[in-house]
Amino acid sequence: MNNEVIASAAVHELALGDNFTFDQLVGAVQRYRRRRLRIVELADLGAHDGLCAVWLMTPEEDLVLHAHSDSALHRQQFVLHELAHMILGHDFDHDPDGPDFLLPDIPPKTRRRLLRRQDLDTPEEIIAETLADHLAAAIRGSAMYRSRYLEIFG
Ligand SMILES: [Zn+2]
Repeated sequence: MNNEVIASAAVHELALGDNFTFDQLVGAVQRYRRRRLRIVELADLGAHDGLCAVWLMTPEEDLVLHAHSDSALHRQQFVLHELAHMILGHDFDHDPDGPDFLLPDIPPKTRRRLLRRQDLDTPEEIIAETLADHLAAAIRGSAMYRSRYLEIFG
């Protein structure tokens, strides 16, 4: 299966239909993983080598930390990439070179994923980015649908 097919199948599995909002997606990921998901902006993050977002697993919850960006779309893309890893079940390994500078209090084994967007060269990163694009398109579609709806019925 190619990445487009895998990404489409993953979106289908969320059972949200073709278009959905970001909040609906977050809800679906929490149901899917049966864990709370928190998304937190960490202003320092982007300062280091283009690291845009990181997914941390604690015993209680999934935590996505993302860099600040003045563009809401960029911020959304950072987070969607991490959500894509969650949907794809990419939590079986962890990066031993995790960001010490970032969260010195968190032991290495709880640091699961980090994203260096300039370095999208592993199969996992490429499929996550493909799925993130699909998710972004579905969210865009939802926004367009709602604005059309308001135009007609608002
Ligand atoms: Zn990634």
